[in-house]
Amino acid sequence: MIKTCSWNYVHYSACLLQAQEQGYAIIPFQEVGSITEKQQFIILRHDIERSISRALGMARLENSLGIRATYFVRVHAASYNIFEYNNYQALQEILSLGHEIGLHFEALDFAHIIEKENPTEVFLREKKVLETILKISVRSAAAHGEHTSAGSQHNRSFFENIPKEEVGIWYNAYDAAFTREIKYISDSFGMWRENCMCKHLGKEPRLQILVHPCWWFKDNLFEGS
Ligand SMILES: [Zn+2]
Ligand SMILES: [Zn+2]
Repeated sequence: MIKTCSWNYVHYSACLLQAQEQGYAIIPFQEVGSITEKQQFIILRHDIERSISRALGMARLENSLGIRATYFVRVHAASYNIFEYNNYQALQEILSLGHEIGLHFEALDFAHIIEKENPTEVFLREKKVLETILKISVRSAAAHGEHTSAGSQHNRSFFENIPKEEVGIWYNAYDAAFTREIKYISDSFGMWRENCMCKHLGKEPRLQILVHPCWWFKDNLFEGS
């Protein structure tokens, strides 16, 4: 039984192990369709905000526990370039470990900043870039949370106007099915607003858990960033 919560990999592993012991299927978005009606499950989601190397550390840890998750990748990030040699290799390794790569999109923000751009076209280009660089099909998307001073809409509202099927997306992380119909918890801003993930295990049968790799570490907060 877990006693003390922390942001280190020891606690993260303990949370996942406890979930496995309690019978949860821990899955990426792309496997939601294989879940049976009575199965307890956790959709494990990671948004890569600033550093791909941290995400790789988490992806390896999960792999050692036999767990796969969805890693959402940005294409407009100022702090990483997905075609840079080391980042490219890290993303390939994340894929080879069985994880899913999804698009962490910024289509509304981008369309606001660059005048006269169409958000749908921006979205499709973002998706195409990720698919082309990694030679994959992207089926899952999650809105990135920053919004510009110029824009009043959050990227999340993109799918209020465009059906996801129209842009080749099967799973939108902010669909009601994954945020309201099941329990959704997040470690945004380095804090669990509704308690650490371990506190929900055994109480909620179905969860989406958003874990940002940047807040979690093996030895200290400043490693591999
Ligand atoms: Zn905990
Ligand atoms: Zn984000």
